[in-house]
Amino acid sequence: MTPSLPHPPLQPTVPTVPSAQLAPPAATPLARLPLQIGTTATWSAARAAVALFPGLAFLGGAVYCVINAVQKDVPPIAAVMLTAMVALPGVMLTVYAVTHLIAAVKTRASDLLLYPDGILVDGGYLHGHRIGWRELQPPFAQIEDTSARRLTLWRIFLFFVTLLLTKGRRIYSPVEPVRIWRLHVWQAGQKRLVAETERPIERDSMAAAAASMQAVVQGQRYVEQAPVIAQQILVCHACGGPAVPDDAPAVTCAYCRTAIPMPPQLRQQAAGVKAMAQSRETTAKMIAKLRDQPRATRSNGWLLVFTLLMFAAWPVGWGIIAYRVLGDGFQLLDALFLALPLAAVLGGFFLARGRLADRGALQMLTLGFGALAPRRDGEPSRCRRCQGPLPHAGTGGVAPCAYCGAENIIGLDLRPGLDPARTDQHTFDAALKTRAKEKLLWAVLTGVAVIALLGWAAGTAFYIVGQDDDAPAKPAKVVPTPPVAPAPRAPAAPPATPAPRSPAKPPAHR
Ligand SMILES: [Zn+2]
Ligand SMILES: [Zn+2]
Repeated sequence: MTPSLPHPPLQPTVPTVPSAQLAPPAATPLARLPLQIGTTATWSAARAAVALFPGLAFLGGAVYCVINAVQKDVPPIAAVMLTAMVALPGVMLTVYAVTHLIAAVKTRASDLLLYPDGILVDGGYLHGHRIGWRELQPPFAQIEDTSARRLTLWRIFLFFVTLLLTKGRRIYSPVEPVRIWRLHVWQAGQKRLVAETERPIERDSMAAAAASMQAVVQGQRYVEQAPVIAQQILVCHACGGPAVPDDAPAVTCAYCRTAIPMPPQLRQQAAGVKAMAQSRETTAKMIAKLRDQPRATRSNGWLLVFTLLMFAAWPVGWGIIAYRVLGDGFQLLDALFLALPLAAVLGGFFLARGRLADRGALQMLTLGFGALAPRRDGEPSRCRRCQGPLPHAGTGGVAPCAYCGAENIIGLDLRPGLDPARTDQHTFDAALKTRAKEKLLWAVLTGVAVIALLGWAAGTAFYIVGQDDDAPAKPAKVVPTPPVAPAPRAPAAPPATPAPRSPAKPPAHR
């Protein structure tokens, strides 16, 4: 990749700061936009984990019905009806699970990195894919707002309830339209799908990514609209350049070095903003931490771990039950324990979702607080609210506006448009509060999840210990994570004996 191609409209849209800081190496992206936060993928993984094993169990039940019918000479019509009633939910749940598993892989977290010479997708199913700016053709990048008909759990349930209650007279369809958004780019005459989502928060990211790409390709980086908050901007009387206020009798013009006298009121304002900025060092640190957070691939790693936990809970849990049922027959309590892996799925989902709070916050900061690009190269970046020139803070730095007091992040956003999200909020406080709230919510739910997992482990241990007193050994461990030690209760049992490997299959119906 050679970043030094002379191509006027595609020059780095880096906010202008002293020229020594310009010309970023190809390794430094101009901007990083979270394309997919990972919420769609997490939901899909959990849905697949809920439905797959119950679906397979129904299918196993259908096979059992066929075998039973053949062996016991059941009348053909009754046998077919029964098999169909058991097989149908099995097929639906399995299809539902597989569809969502594929969707989870497709919609996993991804970032879009914008470089001087093109874009790079990090994470997601286009991971590592690079497209040069010159390869993009009109309309460059667009969001498609469409809907697709998909199986939903609620609809599958409704389908069966209506099928059974109305005896087939008024059946609800198990599929329903789901609204989805897709981000496409036009590369070398081809329309390429970059990302797909069904969650509005990810749609917003994708729309921002499309707007940024269009802006960079077309060289429109300067906002033409009038500022949302009108402010009297102080300009240099010699060259007309905008002045960045400071707590001093005069400031030097950045372009012609003329001294610009500060009106007392503006000077006071600048002093106030300066003092406020100093008192907000913790905020700035928090912003820096969010900005420099690990990339999307890390989130995907965590999602994979928790997805494996959600899926592994079924064969492990059911294997133990199957082992017991084979020992002394099916009892009513066994049916109850069949549902216990659901607790593990819930736990895995909460843990995975909790890891996404910082990605959501980064998206909020990028879309809500990015400073506007300078009007001309060499000028300072401008405030997203009043378009006043901002003090120098470096790419990714926090710059408070001396005119209106709004906080800006330099160079995160390359869009030349003023959407409401960008001009709404004065300070980061609301965004950081949302993040803190979300973190708290998922921390509480994670706590619930851990309790659910412990409950699952303890329930399974109790189930083994309570009903299987004459078993030679008991499993010492029932869940892969977290470290749980189900206390060996039975006095005579040798504690260190390894657990018998249970078959990793749905329960045997015998
Ligand atoms: Zn000047
Ligand atoms: Zn401002």
